[in-house]
Amino acid sequence: MSMCPLCNGFREVKIFCEKCGKKMEDNGKSTDYLDDYSPYLDIDICKMVDGDPNSLEKHYCIHLFHCNDCQTDKNVVIQE
Ligand SMILES: [Zn+2]
Ligand SMILES: [Zn+2]
Repeated sequence: MSMCPLCNGFREVKIFCEKCGKKMEDNGKSTDYLDDYSPYLDIDICKMVDGDPNSLEKHYCIHLFHCNDCQTDKNVVIQE
């Protein structure tokens, strides 16, 4: 998790809003805002890691992206 390219500024990931197609802004790690992962995040994570939740902490960082145009929030799993 400490090697997340976004947290460390290695690179920028462009995420586009599902609703209006505008570029979304990275608001940082979702885990900074949440005490626990929400249920729907668990579902997404399980799919991404192929049923190996133990690898999650080491290899994934979840970022909250926000669309300033239509105020949509989206959690994106960032892979190292
Ligand atoms: Zn990160
Ligand atoms: Zn939008």
